[in-house]
Amino acid sequence: MLNIVIFGAPGSGKGTQSERVVEKFGLNHISTGDVLRAEMKKDTGLGQTAKKYIDQGQLIPDELMIDILAGVLDSFEASKGVIFDGFPRTVAQADELKKMLAARGQEVSVMLDLDVPEEELIERLIKRGQISGRADDNEETIKKRLLVYNTQTSPLIQWYKNEGKYVHIKGCGELEEITEQIVNAITAVKNN
Ligand code: AMP
Repeated sequence: MLNIVIFGAPGSGKGTQSERVVEKFGLNHISTGDVLRAEMKKDTGLGQTAKKYIDQGQLIPDELMIDILAGVLDSFEASKGVIFDGFPRTVAQADELKKMLAARGQEVSVMLDLDVPEEELIERLIKRGQISGRADDNEETIKKRLLVYNTQTSPLIQWYKNEGKYVHIKGCGELEEITEQIVNAITAVKNN
């Protein structure tokens, strides 16, 4: 069972790259950002709560996020594994994911860190905002999200290094070359 954490700052390409590898490896894909945006679109209670944080570039509180993730994991049909995109984003979430998987007799197989320079992230997110109209892809919110990433999320790099699960991916350059690094890293853990 493969459990892949695809990690990186906002705009690092987690969603794009996940889509490119899910089919190849027969994985379920969970993007916590997509789950929250779907709730916002349906205007559910959860969506309304999420919107308050997302519009401010802040993270949804850990407890709520962990409940959502557990619900999605339970809803998955059997597969060869899961790609976690946008989760965990805090050390508390990483601890909880470890426990959740352990309870199922599993563990994180690898954490892929899509590393992209900050100037490029800002450029990509501004462009994405113009195309997708995502409300949090505006310059002010982008800066807040990058600050949140640098303070609350980037400590997970060391956390996964300590777990012996960390793999660095050069996240800029040709899309195909980035995918190739990811495919190689997943193939390596799969054959292990
Ligand atoms: P994303 O699409 O992954 O960039 O997520 C968009 C927004 O959803 C983030 O800026 C957060 O406000 C929220 N979000 C997504 N995943 C998480 C998470 N694991 N923990 C807390 N907030 C999250």
